[in-house]
Amino acid sequence: MSNIPKILIVGQGIAGTVLHFSFFQSGINAELISTLLPGNASSAAAGIINPITGPKYQKSWKFDELMEVFIPFYTDLERTICLDFFHKMRMYRYLPGLNQINKWIKRWDDVVDSKFYGEFVKTLEGYPEYEGEGTWGEIYNAFRVDFNLLINAYAAFLQKEDLLRNDVFNFEQLKVDKDQVTYSDAQYDHIIFCEGYRLMENPYFNYLPLIPAKGEALLIHRKIDNEVMTKRNELMTQWDESNIWYGATLQNSFDSIGPDHNSANLLIGKYNNDFNLTPIISGHLSGLRPTVSDRKPLIGLHSEYKSLCVFNGMGTKGASLAPLMATFLVQKILENIDIPAEVDIQRFRKEN
Ligand SMILES: Cc1cc2nc3c(=O)[nH]c(=O)nc-3n(C[C@H](O)[C@H](O)[C@H](O)COP(=O)(O)OP(=O)(O)OC[C@H]3O[C@@H](n4cnc5c(N)ncnc54)[C@H](O)[C@@H]3O)c2cc1C
Repeated sequence: MSNIPKILIVGQGIAGTVLHFSFFQSGINAELISTLLPGNASSAAAGIINPITGPKYQKSWKFDELMEVFIPFYTDLERTICLDFFHKMRMYRYLPGLNQINKWIKRWDDVVDSKFYGEFVKTLEGYPEYEGEGTWGEIYNAFRVDFNLLINAYAAFLQKEDLLRNDVFNFEQLKVDKDQVTYSDAQYDHIIFCEGYRLMENPYFNYLPLIPAKGEALLIHRKIDNEVMTKRNELMTQWDESNIWYGATLQNSFDSIGPDHNSANLLIGKYNNDFNLTPIISGHLSGLRPTVSDRKPLIGLHSEYKSLCVFNGMGTKGASLAPLMATFLVQKILENIDIPAEVDIQRFRKEN
């Protein structure tokens, strides 16, 4: 066996795409097997990177560390595949009353966070419908990764290199021994599963506490400034030439994985409330986010079969998390550097 490990990645959502390019940056051309299955998360997502989330306007988990990695990572990926998919955005969060404004000011005064919490803006230029009694807080260092553009272009890039098989991974063709693994008669040093919520069906990793959280968003016929994102009742960003993306719901219990009428009505109501406008709907997206009981990614090697690995659990934040998390798995496989315990799957024990 040569020193360059032979790797197969299963699943090409944002996780598989980012992980593949991380290996590529280290001189490894991994193979990938993937097909677009119902309920995948990446094709419903806007790819927004928002450093300030939640009702208390907290900075997202490890955001500084993540940003240090994702900016050069996506910039390098853009250069490699000659595609403009990563955008720095101006982002505005609606602060409906004095209480919220004071919370913002408290954060604003914190010198450490001053690169994220911006000034107040009374009216947003180009959004006459937004005028109201509240105010807007500008969020600095927000970005957007156009997932669909990136994933499709990366698939084409892999196809040119003959590295992508458009197929369902079939566990009946997998043979696993302690130190080696074969799939469809080809031998690999590592097979890495990036299956999104379908990890639940993976016989080697289905003990991990992955909780699918359904999300739905509307595509609405409308044109806005494509460098601006807003969040009032919901997030809004330009999606393509003639449509915006507005969403998303977050449902932990649901009857179907596809778009649902009730969710559409809920979003229409919120849009109405935001703009006093009835939306012209051009699409309805849904997907299942791979979230985890402790809200941290799932990365690592199977405790018994070290050739089998997992790269998953990106939850609601695949765009910002995936690049740093991928460096942890790449370093583990290539240099045997420990994965940080808080994201290593070893934190969960398999019950026999
Ligand atoms: C409505 C919505 C909005 C969101 N908005 C954002 C956002 O703005 N910003 C953000 O960062 N995150 C957002 N997210 C979360 C984000 O989508 C996820 O964090 C991320 O997409 C997870 O990526 P993944 O690659 O792990 O999973 P997935 O995107 O589900 O990808 C898994 C891939 O593997 C394939 N696959 C699975 N099993 C097999 C198999 N056996 N054989 C072959 N192929 C297989 C699937 O078909 C799929 O293509 C949103 C999610 C939703 C649903």
